Amino acid sequence: MNNLLDNKIEFLKGVGPKRAAILNKELNIYTYNDLLNYFPFRHIDKSRIYNVTEIDNDNIYYQIAGRIDNIKSFGSPRLTRITANLTDETGTIELVWFKGLKWIKTRFLPNQKYLLFGKASSFNNKFNFVHPDIEDFNPDDFTQGESLQGVYNTTEMMKTQGLGTKSIAKLVKTLLFQVKESIQEVFPKYILEKETLISRSAAYFNIHLPSDPHQLQLSVNRLKFEEHFFFQLQLLHNKKNRELYVKGYPFKVVGKYFNDFYANHLPFPLTNAQKRVIREIRQDLGAGTQMNRLLQGDVGSGKTIVALMVMLIALDNGFQAALMAPTEILAAQHLDTIQKLLENMPVEIALLTGSTKARQRKIIHEGLQSSKLQILIGTHALIEENVQFKQLGITVIDEQHRFGVAQRARMQEKHDIPPHILVMTATPIPRTLAMTQYGDLNNSRIDEMPPGRKMVETRHLYQNQRLQMIGFLKKQIGYGRQIYIVYPLIRESEKLDLINLMEGYESLLRDFPEPDYRICMVHGQMKAADKDFEMQRFVKGQAHIMVATTVIEVGVNIPNASVMVIEHADRFGLSQLHQLRGRVGRGADQSYCLLMTDFKLTAEAKRRMATMVRTNDGFEIAEVDLQLRGPGETQGTRQSGQIEFKLGNLLQDEKLIKYVRHLVNQILDDDPQLLKPDNQILKSHFEKIFKKTFDWSRIS
Ligand code: ADP
Ligand code: MG
Repeated sequence: MNNLLDNKIEFLKGVGPKRAAILNKELNIYTYNDLLNYFPFRHIDKSRIYNVTEIDNDNIYYQIAGRIDNIKSFGSPRLTRITANLTDETGTIELVWFKGLKWIKTRFLPNQKYLLFGKASSFNNKFNFVHPDIEDFNPDDFTQGESLQGVYNTTEMMKTQGLGTKSIAKLVKTLLFQVKESIQEVFPKYILEKETLISRSAAYFNIHLPSDPHQLQLSVNRLKFEEHFFFQLQLLHNKKNRELYVKGYPFKVVGKYFNDFYANHLPFPLTNAQKRVIREIRQDLGAGTQMNRLLQGDVGSGKTIVALMVMLIALDNGFQAALMAPTEILAAQHLDTIQKLLENMPVEIALLTGSTKARQRKIIHEGLQSSKLQILIGTHALIEENVQFKQLGITVIDEQHRFGVAQRARMQEKHDIPPHILVMTATPIPRTLAMTQYGDLNNSRIDEMPPGRKMVETRHLYQNQRLQMIGFLKKQIGYGRQIYIVYPLIRESEKLDLINLMEGYESLLRDFPEPDYRICMVHGQMKAADKDFEMQRFVKGQAHIMVATTVIEVGVNIPNASVMVIEHADRFGLSQLHQLRGRVGRGADQSYCLLMTDFKLTAEAKRRMATMVRTNDGFEIAEVDLQLRGPGETQGTRQSGQIEFKLGNLLQDEKLIKYVRHLVNQILDDDPQLLKPDNQILKSHFEKIFKKTFDWSRIS
């Protein structure tokens, strides 16, 4: 009995080898179990028969009953269309067919009552039905209790092979009655009772063939819960596995480096959020297992000093530390910042990037080997080269987006006991994604800005407000400020975008004539040297305006630049807009962000603009971004594939995911290897669906 669900689909009554091949190919359905898990994408309500006069919407499926007459054929010599009238007690409505005409012509008897089901369409201000489903009317149909019918996705190819949604529904029905007894529960009783979940077998039955909407809801709830539960079990299983079995250096002490810095060299009081995340990190570091933590904090939230203090803990424990940045410019900036912060402390720091000279490189290598060098800052040269530390205790990775999972893995490989890893990102991750896509990492959030930070004032302007915009920019330049003007280049190779940029540049030259104004320009098709030259003019304050493409997104820190103008702002996604806005607001002055668009905007673009105007909070923006674009688009960065839930929904299930995650955590805390009799059932289902053993001690 156990294996009934593993039967090949071919053997289900009504399938056979030919249909089986189609189901394999088109829907990835190979077994009974696969078909069982092929859920309808919606249900139609067949519980009610409408009157013809009630039809008032061309988006709803209606069921009506009546007689069919007045059948007319059109087209000669070849039939092209047939129309007919369906009449009930209240009125008459037209039916139309374009296909299967010969058959339709002889299909209907004049005094027979028929049951029609279909979506009304509106044509010439009248409603009609095109290709409705029609059956002989049978009053008994309405007492059989199966009022909601599942609608299944099928492909065009399948329809031509007679495997439309109705055929699938029929196969599913056959299957359900055959396997009902074989659908085994996967939750122990204590979970079913506590969560008031219906049985698995009832849920599968009712998601396909619900007797009413309430049953359907209970079934969806149950199966959705199950889906999230086992997904979280996998994530937390991995996480706990690491915590229990992957050794890490225990950083037991907080000693002179940390304490001296904290007491004597801290340039400003830490925010509460900074203190909290340092505490969270310290807890990981002391645990004796390897830390894998994600530190999220918006641009300017003060991640650098957190990174530094964490590295000092490594030093306190006799280890070295590494800080990795995505670009040479950022690495150099980190070196500069950290050297200043540690000015009066005896800490040896060096910078290693792709352009470090061989002689300097040699000195660095020696310093790393002898442990004289304590903190190494750099680009991925840190991992790609033959860099050997004596005792690397922690690696901090700034801007995780540029470093993939694969690179992180490479760092692990180099060491018997892997160093702790702290990944910092300025791209806030929506909560549901943090719990799913990043659910195997620990998570810290700096959700508070340092005091005194002025919000960037953001306005949305239409093209007809250009003159005002230019007047405003002139005033700002008059105050001594600098300005970014950004153009979208979706792909740097796109010609049209480049033309846009050049035209924009030329019109700016007319609006801001030399010698009073100086404009520089940077875009992706320039040579590196030219780019650098133009950039330097802006950095040194020789140019008032920098016209640029998104190359400045991850770039230098220019506190005097206080205005960000974004042209064609509607062409940018929310997180990109937010990142761009983060380029300003770094100095003491009030900063501004102007979003320029045409008047005509999609509703979605309007919402993006409104969100930017309303808030500076990156976490809030990330949530809206997720809603607008869906999980597939927002974080196209994680290299492993996107999560696809069958019933679960990242946009709607935040509360449920959080709840389930908590529950799974509790279960694993109490019984990490699922050894208790009650939990056997969870373990065996886990092993079945993930095709791997739960037993950690056997994992090498
Ligand atoms: P990010 O999180 O973007 O890396 P940084 O670490 O570069 O942010 O910090 C941004 C600026 O805020 C820096 O100039 C830093 O010195 C300053 N800063 C950080 N923390 C505080 C704080 N607690 N109080 C005041 N200023 C702070
Ligand atoms: Mg930073």
